[in-house]
Amino acid sequence: MIPHKSNGEKVIYLAGNSLGLQPDTVRSYIEQELKDWETLAVEGHTHAKNPWMPYHELLTAKTARIVGALPEEVINMNTLTANLHFLFVSFYRPDSSRYKILIESNAFPSDHYAVQSQINFHAELAGKKHFDVKDALIEMKPRSGEDKIRTEDIEELIYREGDSIALIWFAGVNYYSGQAFDIERITAAAHKNGCIAGFDLAHSAGNMLLKLHDWNVDFAVWCNYKYLNGGPGAIGGAFVHEKHLNDSSLPKFLGWWGHDKKTRFLMDHKYIPIPTAESWQVSNPPIFQLAALNASLDIFEEAGIENLRIKSEKLTAYLEFLLKENNNSDIDIITPPEINERGCQLSLRVKYGGKDLYNRLINEGVICDWREPDVIRVAPVPLYNSFEDVRKFSEIFFDNNK
Ligand SMILES: *Cc1c(COP(=O)(O)O)cnc(C)c1O
Repeated sequence: MIPHKSNGEKVIYLAGNSLGLQPDTVRSYIEQELKDWETLAVEGHTHAKNPWMPYHELLTAKTARIVGALPEEVINMNTLTANLHFLFVSFYRPDSSRYKILIESNAFPSDHYAVQSQINFHAELAGKKHFDVKDALIEMKPRSGEDKIRTEDIEELIYREGDSIALIWFAGVNYYSGQAFDIERITAAAHKNGCIAGFDLAHSAGNMLLKLHDWNVDFAVWCNYKYLNGGPGAIGGAFVHEKHLNDSSLPKFLGWWGHDKKTRFLMDHKYIPIPTAESWQVSNPPIFQLAALNASLDIFEEAGIENLRIKSEKLTAYLEFLLKENNNSDIDIITPPEINERGCQLSLRVKYGGKDLYNRLINEGVICDWREPDVIRVAPVPLYNSFEDVRKFSEIFFDNNK
């Protein structure tokens, strides 16, 4: 459903990288659960049209196809930053020689806070003897004068400092620049140097073609409210590679929803893990959240993520073409021009009066977003944006950038 302005006209919505639009079918999926709750109450766990006890399993195969995983490698649970912490419990295990985390310097703030607190937490456990954030967090920047981080520079840094790096934590696509990283190459470099490779896929899931299993990624988390249209604050997603699923030496924070399904309700105190990523699930999940996400995932199934990517490449290339054709050099596109180094988003650095330009766009019914100090992010989403949207955006953009 495309939102409308107060005069009844549809807006041009180019902010699906921030909050995806509501699927037309979402109401009926949620109403089904409201009805079952109303009429069945606790019996709904087993007798709802889609019984709540295994409800999350309805989403597993669809989620796996979005991120290129085996079904047993994915789970929808919690929210992104919470999942980061849960998976760091298992995958960030510093010792006195290998304790550092490599992160992009311009990673999303929540990732910086979470990673800093993980380092502090582990340093505390180690008696503050071995490390602190200043020493343990390596922040990778682009070369001076450049906006993207070159893959060969990431590899070089990993080869140089790999012996002390416990974990490499990168985005799949950087939220600010729109740069898509080469997950496969970063993971390979990490593994050659004995490091774990984890990824924040907030801006990748539902946007890029991912092959997390084949790329041998150790673990990943993402949110479902951006490109995946799961609704504001939607339940998050997580991936753990098959090779780690039965590793009983991995520390893990446990809860009853990770316990073996056959014996869960015997209510004893001996934990038996589900042999899948579900063993990271601590609580019984929010059904309305899952219902909303399920509605969206069914649409992705129908459209096909490969088809969406084909359209996406063309849509973004069209936007780039129009911006370049009309540009009077007041704006720089800081997102890489290479197709495999970007998703649908283009980030426009505006030299003068960017914030005013952004405000004028909003007034004209163009929904995009502003990121301090000087960037307007525009994301034509293949599922619901058209080439016409992009053309109109470009017209309004240049009419207002004079
Ligand atoms: C959107 C986003 C988040 C948001 O985290 P939540 O825990 O879902 O609030 C985190 N990291 C990145 C890279 C994001 O783009």
